[in-house]
Amino acid sequence: VSDTVQLRIPGPTPLPETVRKAGSRQMVNHRGPEFKELLGRVTASMKKAFRTDAEVLILTSSGTGALEAAVVNTLSPGDSVLSVNIGVFGDRFAKICRAYGADVTTLAVEHGKAADPSEVGAQLRVMAENGKPATAVLVTFNETSTGVTNPLQEIAREIHQQAPDALLLVDAVSGLGAIPLEMDAWGLDVVTTGSQKSWMVPPGLAMVALSPRAWAAVERSKMPRFYFDLTLHRDALAKGETPWTPAISVAFGLDEGLRLIEAEGYPAIFARHAACAAAARAGLRALGIRLLADPEVASNTVTSAWLPVGTEWPALTRACRARGLVLAGGQGPLTGKIFRVGHLGSVSTNDMVRCMEILEDAMTELGLQVEPGAGARAAAEAARSATNGATEREPVFATPA
Ligand SMILES: *Cc1c(COP(=O)(O)O)cnc(C)c1O
Repeated sequence: VSDTVQLRIPGPTPLPETVRKAGSRQMVNHRGPEFKELLGRVTASMKKAFRTDAEVLILTSSGTGALEAAVVNTLSPGDSVLSVNIGVFGDRFAKICRAYGADVTTLAVEHGKAADPSEVGAQLRVMAENGKPATAVLVTFNETSTGVTNPLQEIAREIHQQAPDALLLVDAVSGLGAIPLEMDAWGLDVVTTGSQKSWMVPPGLAMVALSPRAWAAVERSKMPRFYFDLTLHRDALAKGETPWTPAISVAFGLDEGLRLIEAEGYPAIFARHAACAAAARAGLRALGIRLLADPEVASNTVTSAWLPVGTEWPALTRACRARGLVLAGGQGPLTGKIFRVGHLGSVSTNDMVRCMEILEDAMTELGLQVEPGAGARAAAEAARSATNGATEREPVFATPA
């Protein structure tokens, strides 16, 4: 895979040149002053990204490690947990809970749709009536397998009303940093993300933050834990360290990725992702491709689409790869049915236009009828109107201080 390949999968995402350089730096002592300084910078920057006053802990693991940390540090075997499941990653969060002995009730949502906050509330009432009120609720912020973003703020409000004592554990791995999320203002108890998504860094680090309520739950929690014991991570962070040897090269990259992110600013980053998503959706539709996600809740970081009729995924991915475009296939029950275009991290609307040009070429080779240039034109047009719209509107979020 050469540098000219367009890697359009929802993580790992392409690395900016300076992030790649940072990752090749010589090692330092992870218990020395250089790493301490870096960790201070990275965690301070992450607090702004999470929109929280809580400490953001840096784990050496993929994103799933942060999900496991969220579960094993706040829950006990036998706890009643509601899993709001809108796809493969919602499923994974629930599986972790079951593996550690929680009693999981699932609210399953049709693929391509978001969870309805009132249905979450209704399910919580049913659980309370059945004598097993929820100790925690698991919600995926952005479901990468279907390309859907949940209305997290509304879901959180409903949970706080219907089950005020329940903890809200959020898988924000593929959304945070690219789509607005407010940990403190929305009352989210545990929020997680991973370095290879919007942070433009290689895989290897995961980030997790706990609200004061969640830290109180840590004291009561009885699930077994060692590597992911967040109390150890919190105590180490107070000394400017991590409890175990961290992925130092990835941390060098994260430091640089966050520098780039802060230079661009979150309002601009959110608008860029919205414009790329609008371009992807318009371009695919113009190529005659049906989108999976409900338009109102379609993700700004990944677009999911049904495979064109008469096309198999292996043939489509081969034809795209031959032209330097790497797309993602379907996951779980959607394997062989859909494909996904990732547009998070280091991505521009021009990348989306190029992506549509290549896709058109590939589809033509596969014998599909496509209107020449239609996908790229529609993507460019959608990008233009999205960008104008964004500059006319007040930014949703003030630039973090
Ligand atoms: C990528 C991702 C994860 C974590 O996956 P890892 O492969 O463990 O990094 C978790 N949840 C969502 C929604 C994701 O997109």
